This record gives sequence, structure tokens and C-alpha cells, in this order.
Amino acid sequence: ELKRFVSDYETAHPNESKIKSVKQTKDKVAIIGAGPGGLSAAYYLARMGYKPTIYEKGDKTGGVVRYGVPQYRLSDEALDHDVNFIKSMGVEIILNKEFGANFTLEDIKKQGFKAVFIAVGLYVPKTLRLEGEDLPNVHVAIDFLLDRKYGCAEDPEEFKGKTFGIIGGGAVAVDVGETAVRLGATKADFVDILTEEALKNVLKDLHEAEREVMEYHFTTSTKNITQEPNGKLALNCYKIEWGEPDPETGRRPLN
Ligand SMILES: Cc1cc2nc3c(=O)[nH]c(=O)nc-3n(C[C@H](O)[C@H](O)[C@H](O)COP(=O)(O)OP(=O)(O)OC[C@H]3O[C@@H](n4cnc5c(N)ncnc54)[C@H](O)[C@@H]3O)c2cc1C
Repeated sequence: ELKRFVSDYETAHPNESKIKSVKQTKDKVAIIGAGPGGLSAAYYLARMGYKPTIYEKGDKTGGVVRYGVPQYRLSDEALDHDVNFIKSMGVEIILNKEFGANFTLEDIKKQGFKAVFIAVGLYVPKTLRLEGEDLPNVHVAIDFLLDRKYGCAEDPEEFKGKTFGIIGGGAVAVDVGETAVRLGATKADFVDILTEEALKNVLKDLHEAEREVMEYHFTTSTKNITQEPNGKLALNCYKIEWGEPDPETGRRPLN
């Protein structure tokens, strides 16, 4: 909410920033990737007087924030507004240039860049390696969101009448649940090993209407995913008992 307020305010009040561009008298720096990491590095380098150039393999800036974070959380307009501001600080952005495929470190050196910052993100999803993860209709959050951010208009009722089981109950899980509900799902069940207290910062952002269709199952772990004869998927879960915190590894489940 706070982040959205700030970005909405910024977009609605352009040209009010007191931050002005700095004369760029220092070295050229190449930055690979125009996600938040590359954009932030470029912005701060420009403010320090360096000449940053970002090379982005895609045709848009923003990285996962543009392609993964749902529109209702952060609009394209707010993101474009930020990127334009960063450009106005003296940052050059070159799109559709993939490091490795289109140019190399040698090419960068030949162009007179004195340093390179690689900010290509981490697109390989981490899974729990549960039995059943490879069943049809089992998704990994990031791929699910990337596929639907712009594709949702193609089938606004993709999950009409369906119930969603979601392993995990953090902010990204909520984005998945909200996306599924917007695409017609009637219910999302979140299974999380943590307690309600530990998840309170996530839960406080859920509106009352959302809580009615998004049910949390706290201190619950998933053993495996199975498919019933009627095709429905089942998350087979058990309740966790938390022991006293382990001095080396932190919290410790007893079962
Ligand atoms: C659903 C969701 C919600 C999130 N919500 C929040 C939040 O509320 N707050 C928060 O702080 N974080 C949030 N995050 C995390 C945040 O999106 C990431 O931490 C952030 O995007 C990482 O930025 P990055 O620049 O390191 O990488 P990325 O965003 O992955 O950007 C990397 C960029 O590098 C480009 N690239 C890759 N390879 C090459 C190459 N060879 N040559 C040129 N370019 C290349 C990619 O195209 C991409 O544009 C969320 C993430 C998700 C998935």
C-alpha cells in the first residue's frame, strides 16, 4: 500500500522532484540487465557523475517487476515514470541487446567502458522437490505469474469455478492467489509451515473480501501432491509442531 501510494503520487505529480542530473565527468560503466538491480545501479552511478549504459536483452525495462509483479500491484505507467526519471539523470538504456548472444566482455572493453555491473536476475525457480511436482496443472509461482501478467486478457475466466492449492503464504503466494481469483477461481487455500503470528505482515495487507476466498492453513507442511481418479489434484499435508529454536539453524520442526 505504502509503495503504491508513493508511486501513484509520483506519477500524478511529475516534474516536482528536487533531484537534478549531475554533470557526467567520470568513466563509462556498462550495466547488463534493466531490472531493479541494473536500474538502481545506473541511477546511483549517474548521480555520482559516471556515464552508465544499460544493455537489456528484452524489449522493455523493469525485469521481473514488469513481467512478474501483477499490474494491480504496480502499473506499467508507474514503472515507466520511474524509468524515464532514471533516464533523465543521464542513463542510456539499450534494449534488445543480450550479453553473451549479441556482445561480449571484450566488446564492452573495446567501447571504452571502465567497469561492468552484471544484474541479470535469477530466473531459475527453486522448488521443494516434492513428489507430484511434475503433474499437469502444478505450477511454479514465477512462471505462473510471468505467463499470466499479459496473457490474462486472453482468457479472463481461465480458472472459473476452480479451487487453488498454494504452497507457501508469503507475498508472492498472495500475488498468485489474487491472480487466480481475478481469473475466476472461487477459492485459494494457502498451506504454510509458519504460524499466523509469523505471517502477520502478509495477512494485514489482505482485504476482508479476499480473506473470505483465501484460506490460510498455518503450521502445515506438504508431504506430496497426488492426482485423484477424477483428475483433481490433492495437496497431502500434515500439521507441524515447532520445537525450541535451534541455536545454530534457528527454528526447528519436531515432525
Ligand atoms: C510476484 C513477485 C512480487 C514481488 N514483489 C516485490 C515487492 O513487493 N518488493 C520487492 O522489493 N521485491 C519484490 N519482488 C522481487 C523483485 O521483483 C526482484 O527482487 C527484482 O526484480 C530483482 O531485480 P534484478 O534486477 O536483480 O533482476 P530481474 O528483475 O530479474 O531483472 C534482470 C534483467 O536482466 C535482463 N537480462 C537477463 N539476462 C540478460 C543478458 N544476458 N543480457 C542482457 N540482459 C539480460 C532480464 O531481461 C531482466 O530485465 C517480487 C517478485 C515477484 C516474482
